[in-house]
Amino acid sequence: MKERATHNETTHGLSRRGFLGLLGNAGAGAAMSLRAFDAVADVVPHRVPTYRKVETLGSVCAMCVNRCGIRARVVDGVLEKIDGDPRNPNSRGGTCAKGQAGIMQVYDPDRIRYPMIRVGERGAGKWRRASWDEAYAYVADNLVKIIEKHGPESLFWSSTTDLTETFFVKLGTYLGTQNNARHATLCLASRNVGYFASMGGVPEIDLANSKYILMYGANRLESFELPYNIDLVDAVQKGGKLVVVDPRMTYTAAKGEWLPIRPRTDLALNLALMHVLINEELYDKEFVANRTVGFEALKAHVAQNTPEWAEKETEIPADKIRQMAREMAAAAPAVAIFPGRRTSWYTNDTIFRQSMGMLTGLLGAVDAPGAAYFGGDKAKLGSYSWAIEPVELAPKFDGFVEKFPLANHEDGGYVHMRDAILNGTAKNPVKGWMIYHQNPLVGVLDSNKTLEMMKQMDFIGVIDIQPSQTAWMADIILPETTYLERLDPVWAPASTPAFMAIRQPVVATQGEAQPVLEIIKGIAKELDKRHEFETPITEAFDFTMEEYVDAQLKGTALDRAGLMKEGIWVAPTNGLKFGQFRSGEMTFKTPSGKLEFVSERFIRNGYPGLPVYASPREEPGKQRLITGRHAWFTHSFNQNNKWLNALYPENEVWINPAVAKEKGINDGEYVKVKSSRGEIRIKAKVTPRIRKDTVFICHGFGGEKGGQTTLAGRGGPDQVLMESAADEISNNQAMHETFVEVLKG
Ligand code: SF4
Repeated sequence: MKERATHNETTHGLSRRGFLGLLGNAGAGAAMSLRAFDAVADVVPHRVPTYRKVETLGSVCAMCVNRCGIRARVVDGVLEKIDGDPRNPNSRGGTCAKGQAGIMQVYDPDRIRYPMIRVGERGAGKWRRASWDEAYAYVADNLVKIIEKHGPESLFWSSTTDLTETFFVKLGTYLGTQNNARHATLCLASRNVGYFASMGGVPEIDLANSKYILMYGANRLESFELPYNIDLVDAVQKGGKLVVVDPRMTYTAAKGEWLPIRPRTDLALNLALMHVLINEELYDKEFVANRTVGFEALKAHVAQNTPEWAEKETEIPADKIRQMAREMAAAAPAVAIFPGRRTSWYTNDTIFRQSMGMLTGLLGAVDAPGAAYFGGDKAKLGSYSWAIEPVELAPKFDGFVEKFPLANHEDGGYVHMRDAILNGTAKNPVKGWMIYHQNPLVGVLDSNKTLEMMKQMDFIGVIDIQPSQTAWMADIILPETTYLERLDPVWAPASTPAFMAIRQPVVATQGEAQPVLEIIKGIAKELDKRHEFETPITEAFDFTMEEYVDAQLKGTALDRAGLMKEGIWVAPTNGLKFGQFRSGEMTFKTPSGKLEFVSERFIRNGYPGLPVYASPREEPGKQRLITGRHAWFTHSFNQNNKWLNALYPENEVWINPAVAKEKGINDGEYVKVKSSRGEIRIKAKVTPRIRKDTVFICHGFGGEKGGQTTLAGRGGPDQVLMESAADEISNNQAMHETFVEVLKG
């Protein structure tokens, strides 16, 4: 298709008008978009064409993990606009600010365009450009050296969830290592293990039809945009009640009733809610009798957990707790106890999530409109058969399996692995670290410990698109293509209606970046030249992404060309089906097949079957530090994005006005925040939206080190302050267990 362009639209590759349209706020927004415009003008070639080739391609966003459907408008080979794909059930036509700013991930001047090998001290920022051949040989030399000296168990392998992560993890297994530290261990592992204990898995929520929504800390409106947020707002507009329990008043809390709970007492509130439901006989007797086990034990367990007891713990008035329980019972089963996602809060997080599943069961808020449900439809994909199976894996170096029997062993436990290396309890020396699409120096608490661990490594290799803080400390950076420049495996999640979508290249690759599968193939070839592996790794990866996708699409409604043309395929649907769990036709994936108030799995593995509450510690004169995200960022992944950074250039420490007054701190001034682990300088935001005993810092800022020039020097890094702590059952990192002092100047 060709269309006539005006001079104004084509003076630069990206139109000024288009930029202004990205931002709703006419005043400040206009100034910010001009900055962003100037930034892009540096990297997009100047041209004044007469006719323009305009293409619109369907793909899948990767600016966070929600994977919204997108339509990319490409003009003469330049990506000019990203819109939502209205056909995609996962996003329903919307994209958030991050999704739209994906353009800047491609054209970011900081982006790594060529393989870079370190020439100075680690972290000094001295690099030389290398060819891919040299880069592959460099990685293979180092990995083989470590394997031959210490064995494959000496390799640490870390990565973040994405459609391509499977290839990176697989390479590790062909080398014989299973020392993975994956995203879940920094994010949602405790939620998964807790819900697994009580409900046999993490349910979906039919939020749109909920009459009462209880969110513990979940800040949906500033996390993933879609589709839960559309449903949440719809439910509230239809008269549903939203209650948000959080020490901080988030934008989500502002849409409903905010209950500023004392940090780390959420379990006490849940126990008291169950106490009221049982004491006043407000629970779903039929569901409890037929579909649960352990009710009598639960009744005895919560007998002492009166609302008055909980008031002392939580600082939520006893009458309010009674009111909550009664209102939830009146709305049941259309009650949404929202499971949450980033649940890396406290060391007792798993048992708290277990209790959320128990509360859901007591209300019978399962398998009904407006409630929790399991299932949804799923498009049936074929699968690629790997030519060669991985070798027998060496045992994990940190004894994780024995220590955390109920954790997901494939995900590993970051905190435990790091401790094992630093404390000398690792079964063998750990000398090589390969990192894909992850930024542990920011994402993992107590970052000074991560730096210490890095010093013990003979080799650190990073695959990324940006010179992240972690990449800056590596020995080699291998540049990956962005999600807008590559073909990824087909994605078909559980959804109603079922669908399958494809992430495909919409623009040409910048520089010499490569998709991760190609990078792995290059490394594999060099590995095989240097070492006789039980499995020839080159043969294992002897396929193209196109062949992988073709195998997935075998027998489905569309072939590769068809799916790439459309970007998405959506199945016809009759909507969600309810009633199968209530009738017993479907069973919970617990040992008993029922919702378990007393977890048999926990008992079998040496943990108490019911959640046992302990009052939190306090440190007089200090505040508990909590963290979270901002709507415009996905942790540290896109903090350096020029457009997003222009909207929110630096983070702040939120501090209650009474505390600020006591310390003589004014809104907007720079303060020191100190913990036992470090000290940072950061701007103060004095606000009544936070409790007196708590401070909040938005995660992902403070890029002092690294080649991320937009982010460098802006804001304060919360991870420097956080003490090393992890959930006791899942080993999910616990980011809200540190007390800090906020000091003037
Ligand atoms: S919520 Fe935003 S960043 Fe996440 S996938 Fe959707 S558009 Fe992309």
